[in-house]
Amino acid sequence: MQTKKIILHCDVNNFFASCECALNPSIKDQPVAVTGEVTKRNGIVLAKNEIAKSFGIKTGDVIFEAKRKCPNLVCVRPHHKIYENYSRRIRAIYEEYTDKVEPFGIDECWLDITNTVKFFGSALDVANTLRQRIKDEIGVTISVGVSFSKTFAKLGSDMKKPDAVTVISLENFKQKTYHLPLASIIGIGKKMETKLNKINIFTLGDLAEYDENIIKRKFGIVGEKLQKNVQGIDDDDVQSVDDRKVVKSVGNGTTTLVDVKTKKDLRSVVMFLCDEIATRLRAKHFTGSTISVSLRRNDLIWLSKSHTMKKNTNFTKDIYNTSMNIIDQIWDEICPLRSIRISVSNLDSDDISQLDLFSTNRNRKNLENAIDKIRQKYGYDSIKPLLSQNDKLINSQALRLDDDDDGNDSF
Ligand SMILES: [Mg+2]
Repeated sequence: MQTKKIILHCDVNNFFASCECALNPSIKDQPVAVTGEVTKRNGIVLAKNEIAKSFGIKTGDVIFEAKRKCPNLVCVRPHHKIYENYSRRIRAIYEEYTDKVEPFGIDECWLDITNTVKFFGSALDVANTLRQRIKDEIGVTISVGVSFSKTFAKLGSDMKKPDAVTVISLENFKQKTYHLPLASIIGIGKKMETKLNKINIFTLGDLAEYDENIIKRKFGIVGEKLQKNVQGIDDDDVQSVDDRKVVKSVGNGTTTLVDVKTKKDLRSVVMFLCDEIATRLRAKHFTGSTISVSLRRNDLIWLSKSHTMKKNTNFTKDIYNTSMNIIDQIWDEICPLRSIRISVSNLDSDDISQLDLFSTNRNRKNLENAIDKIRQKYGYDSIKPLLSQNDKLINSQALRLDDDDDGNDSF
């Protein structure tokens, strides 16, 4: 039997607003909201501090609505670069306690301290030390969940805030969590909740105790996994820092089975490559901003160009569109192509995409994540973009190259 894991989940309270207050202490005792453009009618509240919260201000409130609830509300525009910097400094503190730190969004991390806790006292000591150090050294507060699984560590960090620690142990998890509504755990969204409600599952305890066969039949592996998680059987690993740092670019190339003569034909090859690259980026929790395309004509001349996008991405569509734009610039269709290589570099962790809280990226992220899940279960070829299907040009032995230390990739 495996040794019991010790996992912390640390969540910065009111992250954007807390950064703004840490940066400008003169506003810290006032109601503060980080908002879109104040002059625009559709500007909304992206984040708020505790004081603003006490006036009933909610994320997503339109600014004039928020001002009506709280006329003295201090509205500040977001400073994403600064938040990223805070995020990095906070993470650096976590990394003093374990090399297994997995960011989730810009302001949350799981830490697996199973093997390192002995150097620092108990799990509760580590949680309290982190809470204190981040308050003293960074000027923001965190909530920490201490548990034996990622699911319950995350739930714990939600239970008491701000500036608090909650322990959910093997001994007390039923008593502490089984009365809670389904939406309290990660992985149960509105749709899933509605479906579970229909069969009289309303609390985590209801889900844990429901007939496992029915759950499996109705909700497949997703349901099975959720049920196991609430039963305390969750062996998901915290991904270590080392796993994330070595890769500098993610690329893919192929020599087509026959020469490609038109952009129309090239599209399916580009889609195939971009989709595979984006999938691997997401699996590694990376995003990238620089897209490089190299084409080799059948007279063996190489054409290459890179483009750096304004925002990082790990979406197939973004990588595909940028690649096709580059191709438009470098290839005139006069001489047919033999090989094509695409890579994404300037990598960062994928937390930045979370800053797009209210953009359509959210839906796209959900979609692409769903595709990843299907592929994890049924294999990569189980689902493909329409454009890259049934294509006679694509050599399935496409190269998959990551610029990492050992030169190979486990996808
Ligand atoms: Mg937070």
